[in-house]
Amino acid sequence: MTQREILTWERYGTAVRELAQSVADSGFVPDVVLAVARGGLIPAGSVAYALDCKNLFTMNVEFYTGVGTTLPAPQLLPPFLDLAELNDIGVLVVDDVADSGRTLELVVNVCRKHAAEVQSAVIYEKPRSLIAPDFVWRRTDLWINFPWSSEPVITSRSGVADA
Ligand code: 5GP
Repeated sequence: MTQREILTWERYGTAVRELAQSVADSGFVPDVVLAVARGGLIPAGSVAYALDCKNLFTMNVEFYTGVGTTLPAPQLLPPFLDLAELNDIGVLVVDDVADSGRTLELVVNVCRKHAAEVQSAVIYEKPRSLIAPDFVWRRTDLWINFPWSSEPVITSRSGVADA
């Protein structure tokens, strides 16, 4: 089997604290943490709590259809954020990984048209990423198993909910 980077829930706890610490140490105090959904939802919530930032937005982007397979380009999905909400504020965009970096680049570029300042934070950056995130916990070129997406999907044991 191909080697993978395994992020356990325990290491994840350390990762988000250390990632948030590097944001705090930089002096950047975001008005809003923006999660790139779905992969960035859990990291963004954790980082927002760690930084005591109570304002969380999400932007929904679809790109990967499987391990290493993608749509031709990342696409913003509804519900769409009212971008006027970003006018003249400081935004910290959080995602799980900048792999090709195309998803993060899309979101950062959209935000930069409105916000006063946009910085980005990811748990992992891969060497091929075409955007350099401002804050990175670790670098790897392996496929990453995140704890929230590597367990089987839960379905009803009775099958009732599937009907
Ligand atoms: P990118 O646009 O940087 O290529 O990646 C977009 C999204 O695809 C990431 O935010 C993440 O949700 C998913 N993705 C990319 N690489 C990986 C990976 O190594 N493991 C997992 N689980 N998801 C990935």
